[in-house]
Parts: sequence; structure tokens; C-alpha cells
Amino acid sequence: MRGGIPLFRFRGIQVFLHWTFLLLPAYIALTGVSEGSSWPVIASDIGQILIVFACVVLHEFGHALTAARFGVATRDITLLPIGGVASLERMPEEPRQEFWITVAGPMVNLLIAGIAFLVLAVMGLAQLTTELFGDISSWTGVLTFLVVANISLFLFNLIPAFPMDGGRILRSALGMWLPRPRATRIATVIGRILAVGFVGYGLYSGAAILAIIGVFIFMAAGSEARIVQQKADRQSLRVGQLVRNDLIRMEPTATVQDAWNALTLIDQHTLAVTDQGLFRGLVGREELRSALQRGEGVSMIGPLTRHVPSVAVEESALTVLERMVQEQLHAVMASSNGAQVGVVLRRDLEKALGPIGTSRTA
Ligand SMILES: [Zn+2]
Repeated sequence: MRGGIPLFRFRGIQVFLHWTFLLLPAYIALTGVSEGSSWPVIASDIGQILIVFACVVLHEFGHALTAARFGVATRDITLLPIGGVASLERMPEEPRQEFWITVAGPMVNLLIAGIAFLVLAVMGLAQLTTELFGDISSWTGVLTFLVVANISLFLFNLIPAFPMDGGRILRSALGMWLPRPRATRIATVIGRILAVGFVGYGLYSGAAILAIIGVFIFMAAGSEARIVQQKADRQSLRVGQLVRNDLIRMEPTATVQDAWNALTLIDQHTLAVTDQGLFRGLVGREELRSALQRGEGVSMIGPLTRHVPSVAVEESALTVLERMVQEQLHAVMASSNGAQVGVVLRRDLEKALGPIGTSRTA
């Protein structure tokens, strides 16, 4: 559900409008016309939707800009008819950071409601004393709507169930005392109990929307628990289990042409450059290809060697993969007690762990 119509970019974060979003004003216009509403009424209904979504965008930037403070980039913000989604590069597992990133969204709505309320109060006073501001009735309507809409957004997002912000806030609060998978399980159970309550109350009172929201929350709660459990399972994989010793080794004095021939012969992408048995770095097929195109076939591969950082074999494979993605590394050297053991390639890590997903925050 990523991508869509690019709207604008702020602080390096692209905001997209998912095409399904357009169904919303279309639906309002259609029902308006079929009910015989006048165009100004329909326009004001659509205007209200646009105001709500402008507030949703600000809410998402609350998450994204707080995440940026903790060094977490946001890939994009996408507006769907059901709300906004900020795709964070990752969600910090430090409960305190997850807490602030999550809380920042609803706080934006509270802030907007507060400001609108203050302006209303000031305008009310102004109207009492003089008619300085002229006809303010149309503005009070918009401001009242801003207060109501943002308080609703604030309360809705604080429902303590995944995928609502409230679920994450609850989990991060529990996570300050409990291990993350356990905190997630407890938050999931609380969310599910609430969801069942919504469905029950919705059916009992005839509020279909509430029942639908309940079903949606119930299903989404389980998926967050699964993601965290899978991640805990994957966390147990160590780098040492993925060390490769089958890379071709060549001395830095070997020629580009020889290295290219050796790699293409066995259809590999990377070779290890070793100097007197010690690993110095890697050379990839792409670098060799460009060197050949520059007519440097007889040059040595030494200067083309990319030095790669070293990690301990007992490190978590997932942590190393996350670091490699962040630092755009394709390989690392694995070492045990300071001695080199072999090379670990990013694609092997990705194959073993699956792609490390972005974290979506509504
Ligand atoms: Zn949010």
C-alpha cells in the first residue's frame, strides 16, 4: 500500500496520496448528489474531509520528526482513506524511544485542538467587546470543527490496541519493565478484549461502524504479535552461522583481467582480497567491469579493494543486517576472538532473515 500520487516533500519526507483516497471525496459527492444536497453543502463536506486529512498529515509528521530526533529516517507518509501511515525505516526497540515517537502523533492533534480552542475563546471575547473581527460566524464553524475533529483523532488513536498508537504506547510502557515479546503479548490480549467489547457493544447498540472497527482491531492485534515473535526467533540467529569460506581469494597484486575471469568462470559476484592469508577486503564484479571498460585490465586489484568492517561471530545476524542496510554495506568480515573466520554477505543474511521490514505507524 505504499506510493501513490506525490503531494509534497517536507524535511526529506515525501507525502503520497494513495489513489484509493480519491474514492472518499467521490463517495461524498455521489451520496450528496443522490440525496439532492446542494453543491455548497457537498463542497463543505469535502472541505471537512480535507481538513481532517491535513490534521492526519500533521499527526504523521509528529511521528516522523520525533523519529528523526532518534536517528530513525521515515521513507514516506502515505494517505489512505482510513488514515495516514508513516513508514519508518525501523521502530527503535528502546521502549522510551518508541514511546515518544508514538505519543508525538496524538499530541499534535491535542495541540491543534488546543490552539483552535484558544482562538475561539479569544474571538468570543472579541465579539463580546467589539465587532472588531467583522462576521466571524463562518470562522467559528471551522474552528469548532477543528477542535472536535482533533479531539476525536486524539481519542481514537489512543485506543490501547494495535495498530492504533495507543497499542504501541501501552506496549512501550509495559516494555520498560518486561521483555518486548512479553509486553507485546500482554498489549495484544488487552487490545483483543477491547475489540471484542467494541463488537459486542456495536452489535447490541446497532452501531455497525463500532463493530467493524472491533473486527479490524482484533485481526490487526494478532499480526503485530506475530511480527514481534518472528523477530525474536530471528534474533537468535548468529552471524557465525552464515560465514562463507567459499569465496575466491586473490592477492592484491592480481590483475583486474584475471580477477574478472575467475569470477565469471564460476558465476560469483564477489571475491576476497587476501594478503599473506589475511583478509583485506572485497572486490565486486561491477568494479571489475568498470575497470575493464576503462582499459585497466592489467592494473592490480589492490586499489579497487573495498575494506569492510569486522563483526564478531556471536553477534545477532539481525542486528548486523540492520547495520548493513543503514550503512549500505554488502559484506562484513566475521571474526572470532580477533581472528578472521570468513566473509558474511548481505544477500545471505537477507535470504536467512527475510527483508527487514519498515515499521508502519498509523
Ligand atoms: Zn499515529
